[in-house]
This record gives sequence, structure tokens and C-alpha cells, in this order.
Amino acid sequence: MLPIHEQFYSFQGEGNHAGRAAYFIRTFGCPVHCPWCDSAGTWHPDYIPEKIERISPADLASAAAATRAEFVVVTGGEPAIHDLRALVDALHVVGLKAHLETSGAFPIKGDFDWVTLSPKRWKLPLSSNLALADEFKIIVDSTDAIAAYTAILAAAESSEAPRKRPVWLHPEWSQRANGPILNAITDWVKQHGAPYRAGWQLHKPYQADLLDPKSAQAAPLGGDIGKGY
Ligand code: SF4
Repeated sequence: MLPIHEQFYSFQGEGNHAGRAAYFIRTFGCPVHCPWCDSAGTWHPDYIPEKIERISPADLASAAAATRAEFVVVTGGEPAIHDLRALVDALHVVGLKAHLETSGAFPIKGDFDWVTLSPKRWKLPLSSNLALADEFKIIVDSTDAIAAYTAILAAAESSEAPRKRPVWLHPEWSQRANGPILNAITDWVKQHGAPYRAGWQLHKPYQADLLDPKSAQAAPLGGDIGKGY
């Protein structure tokens, strides 16, 4: 049984698989505590729900299989604090690929088909997870964030056979209209080329997640110092 914050049917709004129909399973719990977290309902004391449902992998897989989703995104919170092997196996049994979105700070348990790793400076990724990632996502919350995270990710491509995996640069959503941050992303992509790509959280302006009544009310912190984080 896994503690589940929400599950819903939407489309993937980010990264290499953007625009594709996807079923989302958001696990509860995250010890990373980013100050602008857009899933605060999974951990922040001001937003956590009164009751957390525990659901079996088979039931989660069955709900996903009842949609036209092309794959399932297991996200959080930080899903890797849970043992996800039974969930991934259950998804494979019903013919669905399993994608993971993780900070990379905890050992990944489960044979995922796709791993998106978004490093967070408050708890850095494990080198074993950097090797597993298929793409990276940097949340650009300040103009110097790209250089800082690029230095962290450099270790991931220093092996004998670097894979040059995509590195998406996303403005932190509360900063999406911040000119200097958007310009920093544009300049970085133009100056460096591959593997860097400018990104956007496409599902948010669409409100695609919220269209499913099963989705939880969004609880973004947005870097609100008044919240004490
Ligand atoms: S953004 Fe992700 S890693 Fe950071 S606190 Fe929120 S759920 Fe945890």
C-alpha cells in the first residue's frame, strides 16, 4: 500500500514527453522542503489534508488503465522515499510504461521506463541516480541557478560514455514573468546549445490537471517568506 496524495488524468506538461496523455500518481511526503514547492499539500503543515489514503499498486494501475493514458507519471512529493517496485510492476502488468519525477536525493526502487531528475539545492541528488536519469529539469528560481545546477549535473556526464541527456530550464512558476530569469534561460540556451532546452510547465496555463475532479486543490508556496520557508 502506498500513501497517495492524489491521482488524476491529464497530459504531461513538461520535458521530452510534453503534450502526451498521462495518468499521474502523486505520492504523499517530501523531506526536501523547497521554499517555492508547487505540491505543498504533500508535506507542508499548512496544506496537508486531514486524511491520507493508502492505495494498493494493483488499484492504482487499474485506475490508470481505465484511461487512454500513454504512460503513468509517478510524482510527489518525493516518490523515491517509497519502495515503488510493486507499483511499477503492476503498471507493467496492465501494459503501461512507468515514468518517475524525482529530486534524485533518495535511492530509486523500481524498474522505471523513464526518469526525470530535477536536482534541488536543499538535498542534492545521489550520483547513482544521476546515472539513471533520462532527462534533467532545472527549476530556475534565480539568475544564478542555471550555473549552480549545471555544476552539480556535470558529474552525470563525466563518465567514459557521456549520454548528453536533455537539460530542461524551467522558470520557477511564481517567477514565470520575471524578465531577468527568462532572459537568463534564453541566454544560456543560445550560448550553450545542446543539451540545454528552454522549458515551460505547459499544463499550468491549460489548467489541465485541475480539469480532472479527482485532482487535489493546487497548493503552491511560491516562495512566500510569510510562510516561514
Ligand atoms: S518541489 Fe518537489 S522536491 Fe521540492 S519540496 Fe516540493 S515536492 Fe519536494
